[in-house]
Amino acid sequence: MAHLVIVGGGASGLAAAYQARKLAPDLQITLLEAGSQLGGKIKTVAEDGFLLEGGPDAVVRYKPWALELMRELGLEDQIVGTLPAKPSALIHQGRKAQPIPAGLQMVVPGDLGALAQSPLLSPLGKARAALDLLIPKGPEGDEAFGAFIERRLGRQVWERLVAPLCGGIYGGDPYELSTLAAFPQLKSLELQHGSLIRGAMQQRKERGSREAGQLFASLSGGLGAMVEALSARLTDVHVRLGTAVTGLERSNGWTAHTPEGSLSADALVLATPADVTGKLLEPLHPEAASALQQIPYGNSATVSFAFAKEQLPPRVGHGILMAARQGFSARGFTWTDQKWQGRAPEGFGLVRAYFSGIGADESQLIQLALHDLARLWGQHPQPLRTWVFHWQQGLPRYTVGHQERVTKALEAEQLPGLYLTGATYQGVGLPEVIRMGRTTAQRALQHLATPNSTPATT
Ligand SMILES: Cc1cc2nc3c(=O)[nH]c(=O)nc-3n(C[C@H](O)[C@H](O)[C@H](O)COP(=O)(O)OP(=O)(O)OC[C@H]3O[C@@H](n4cnc5c(N)ncnc54)[C@H](O)[C@@H]3O)c2cc1C
Repeated sequence: MAHLVIVGGGASGLAAAYQARKLAPDLQITLLEAGSQLGGKIKTVAEDGFLLEGGPDAVVRYKPWALELMRELGLEDQIVGTLPAKPSALIHQGRKAQPIPAGLQMVVPGDLGALAQSPLLSPLGKARAALDLLIPKGPEGDEAFGAFIERRLGRQVWERLVAPLCGGIYGGDPYELSTLAAFPQLKSLELQHGSLIRGAMQQRKERGSREAGQLFASLSGGLGAMVEALSARLTDVHVRLGTAVTGLERSNGWTAHTPEGSLSADALVLATPADVTGKLLEPLHPEAASALQQIPYGNSATVSFAFAKEQLPPRVGHGILMAARQGFSARGFTWTDQKWQGRAPEGFGLVRAYFSGIGADESQLIQLALHDLARLWGQHPQPLRTWVFHWQQGLPRYTVGHQERVTKALEAEQLPGLYLTGATYQGVGLPEVIRMGRTTAQRALQHLATPNSTPATT
């Protein structure tokens, strides 16, 4: 019987295993995961009535692949939206926090009226942003994301609105991100509508707004419920936790080496972060390995605090983002209990700080987060509980040239029976990662179905 081995049990590896099992009920499948749990960056904790996320906390609704999977897994009635809030969030500019304008689509204004009234921008900044409706389209090729937004909407929109919003997604310096790789939808808006604002206004009609809770979704039990449901569907998949793949060999098919022994496979899906995949491919495809090793990652961390409600000052919307270089250590704070229903017991509040690119240990992160909160609130808060999640390899940074690096990396798939998937390639969000995992499994199954792919000798 043919054997498919999937390396990495994050969202992409799990989606690949689920899809392979669904389409090939008799296939021998093994999922190898280095860590002690499945889910990768998805980490939901439920303790003493608190429900918190250490990694991702939402999926965007307009990219349907995560929600489709949740429905397929029977989780439809657990899908929840964010609580309505107007404004949905604030941006702190150093001296003052201002509401983000209503109607944002991704990171771009989609409501001209709200933009005109926004205290976030000066009259000149607003006038410059409105020029986006008139100025001609730019070139079709890639450009730094900061340069793209400045060209369309002006420097103020970049500095005061888009950069803080992106810092909360990708971390690091968002200026150097690749527009085509990190925000392809925004480039399409320019190309299709000749204007980001015009395109975003159209999208807002179709997708709804953040303020009404229509853009983001999760599960009432947190995103970990999706990991549990996926695991439950992996019938007869041999899941091996605590099993890191340390080397690969091409033999009659593939051999994956682990400290616990070696496995033969007819097809291999690598759903591991870029550095791991690069290391594994070094002896087999040095060019692909080198491209993978050039994809930078930013470390990230989240710190969640439980507070007694009476300790908390009034908090606006779902959270607050910090503009860069304004003396804050955190990129932003989520008021978790105000963003989602049922995340903290009665009488308690839940607050999550997001850090990116910061070299600090757990106790330093806690102190930095509390320091920022003290500055925001004018009082030193006393948390009752604290949870820290540190991701050394948080998110791949899709900087200019990312698409070329990915094309080079994917040349490794010319090795028969080898497939690469996950956040490294064509999208870091859970919807994209799930879509890639599922389509990658389909490609692996096609390979196994071709007559000359010989079964491995186990
Ligand atoms: C703090 C944070 C917040 C985020 N927020 C959001 C959000 O709100 N919404 C959203 O859509 N996305 C969000 N993301 C992004 C999203 O969570 C990730 O891009 C996605 O989960 C990555 O899935 P993956 O399967 O590609 O990789 P991973 O989740 O990194 O999984 C890779 C797996 O491979 C395993 N592995 C590594 N080496 C080996 C080896 N040698 N052998 C075997 N296994 C190995 C790892 O242990 C891991 O389990 C966030 C990410 C972070 C870090």
